Amino acid sequence: MSNDEGNCEELKKLLTPKDPNNQHSDIPGENGENKNIREALLNMPNEIVSSFENGYALINSGSFSQPPVGHGPLAKDLEASADNHVYPPRDGRVFGIIHSHQKNTNSDPLGQNQYEHPMFSADDFLSLVTIRNNYSQNLANFANSGDEIFTVVLSVNIFGIVHTYALKIENSAKFENLNNILSNRKERRKFNKELKREYEALTRGNNPDISALNYEKTFLKFISSNNHDVGLSLFKMDAEDVNNIKWNKLSLSADENSVNETQPCR
Ligand SMILES: [Zn+2]
Repeated sequence: MSNDEGNCEELKKLLTPKDPNNQHSDIPGENGENKNIREALLNMPNEIVSSFENGYALINSGSFSQPPVGHGPLAKDLEASADNHVYPPRDGRVFGIIHSHQKNTNSDPLGQNQYEHPMFSADDFLSLVTIRNNYSQNLANFANSGDEIFTVVLSVNIFGIVHTYALKIENSAKFENLNNILSNRKERRKFNKELKREYEALTRGNNPDISALNYEKTFLKFISSNNHDVGLSLFKMDAEDVNNIKWNKLSLSADENSVNETQPCR
């Protein structure tokens, strides 16, 4: 199985409906806010707010596929930290997070220090590294899965339209470079600055050009540039037909002016 196909298959698993025979597939948790992963994904658009990020940790607690020995994977409600951002807990059972970025209510973000870009941030790269480095569940629970299970999912709202993206590991050897960059303070600061600079180029000037397509292109260019070739790929959820939700892989066209969508799995 190619990594694209494996990544797509693992993303598809996140959309598995709640098992009616598995009483553990929806665990209320302290605030009654934990969810089946599919429900958390589909509900995320309702949780995009302007004041803080919302999110869930994707937890494989025990037997992934054979309840009731353990319970199936679960989306555990996460509270935003003091900086209003959501971070993955350091927990060996966590294989991903789903989160929202803050909705920017001001359509003119110029001069706003707190403008949160509607695309993966440097923190999100770090989240993926943290999740992968801390994961300690027996991978045998995930037939044919290695790094393909890990993901950081992001929902954003751009002028009223919700876009949901998944960051995936495409090349494990190259991903090691990201680990190296982010574990070195100086390198990490440089990486963060470079990503921020690319996003800010979209919002600078008199006519800021804020669109999902522009952010997608900027992000794809960033992760394919020589300096930042860290083995990542970008997927986007197509939830137009709620009974047949698909994950498309996004890639830059040869002239870098448009984004191609392909479906690595059915
Ligand atoms: Zn984020």
